[in-house]
Amino acid sequence: MIEQTRQVSRNLSGLPTSTLNPVRIELPTPFDVGSVNAYLFTGPEPVLVDTGVDSDESWAALQAGLAAHGLTVADLQHVIITHAHVDHFGAAARLTANGRAHIHIADLGYEWLAAPKDKWEQRIAFYRDYFLAPCGLSPQAQQMVITYMTYAAASSTAVAPERITTFQVGGQLAMGGLDWQVLHMPGHASHQTCFYQPATRQFISADMLLHKAPTPIVEEPPNGKTRRPSLPLLLDSFTVLEGLDIAIAYPGHGPLIHNPHELIRQQRQRIQARKQEALNHIRQGCQTVIELVNTMYAHYPENARIAGLWMVVGYLDLLKTEHAVAEQLVDGIWRYSIN
Ligand SMILES: [Zn+2]
Repeated sequence: MIEQTRQVSRNLSGLPTSTLNPVRIELPTPFDVGSVNAYLFTGPEPVLVDTGVDSDESWAALQAGLAAHGLTVADLQHVIITHAHVDHFGAAARLTANGRAHIHIADLGYEWLAAPKDKWEQRIAFYRDYFLAPCGLSPQAQQMVITYMTYAAASSTAVAPERITTFQVGGQLAMGGLDWQVLHMPGHASHQTCFYQPATRQFISADMLLHKAPTPIVEEPPNGKTRRPSLPLLLDSFTVLEGLDIAIAYPGHGPLIHNPHELIRQQRQRIQARKQEALNHIRQGCQTVIELVNTMYAHYPENARIAGLWMVVGYLDLLKTEHAVAEQLVDGIWRYSIN
C-alpha cells in the first residue's frame, strides 16, 4: 500500500500530465446519439479506451486522433472496452486486423465481443417474443424496433477470442502509468464497467454518467430468470458513484464533466419527476406502456421513440418496486393500475 502511494506521487510529479490524463478523441457514429468518445493514454505505453463504430469515417477520425499524438494503430497494444455497445467496441475487430492490439473487456461482457451475433439473436428473440407486444406496440412499431436492432447486430463484428483478454470487476487496470479501479455499474448495460483513479480523482464513466441521463436499456433476462429492471439498477449505480470523490469524469458521449455530483442530483430529480408524471397519467387513464410513451414522448419523432420506450419501462419498474402500481397481463398486453 505504501509502495503504491509512493509510486503514484512519483508519477504525479515526475511525468508530464499528458501521460496521466486521457485524451478525448471524438468519433462519428451513424446513430441518433451522435458522436462517441474514445480516450487515449499516450504513455508510458499507449492505451485506448473504446473504439467507435466500424466505419471508414470513424476509422479515419481515430487515425487522425492517434496521429495528433505521434501514434498509429500499429502502436496500440492495449484497447479497453467499457461496455459492448456497438458505438463503443465496433472497430475492435478492425483494430486487431490492422495491428497487434489486444482487446480487454470485463468477463461479464466477453460474449458480446466474441459472439455478438449470437447475443443479438437472443436479445432480438426476447424483444420479439416477450417484450414488444406486451408493451402494446403495433406490429409495424414492433417491426421498426426489430429492424433497428438487426441493423445494430449487423454492425457488430466479432473479435477473435485469442485477441480478447478479460478483466475482473473489482480489479485494477494500468492506464497512463496509474492503476485504475474497475467498477461494475449496471443500469445502462448490465455489463457496464467504469474506471476510477482515486489519487487523481478521475473517473472514466463511459455511458454511466452522461450529460443527459443514460438510457436504461431493457435486456433479455439471463437463462430461465426474469428480466432485471434497468432503471432501479441505474439508480443504485448512481449511489455508488455519489460515494466516490470525483474531480473530473470522462463520459462516453459529449465533453468532459466537471460537476459529476451536481449532474447526478439533477438527473435523479428529473427521473423522479418523470416517474411521478407516469403515475399521474396512469391515474388519468393511461393503461399500457405504449400509451405512456405516446403521451410522455409526444415531442419525439415516432422512429426515435425506442429511447422513450426504455425510459417508460424504467419508470414503471420503479413504480412497481415502490408498489405504487400493479401490472397485469390482459390479452397479451401489460396493463397498469394504481395500487
Ligand atoms: Zn452504451
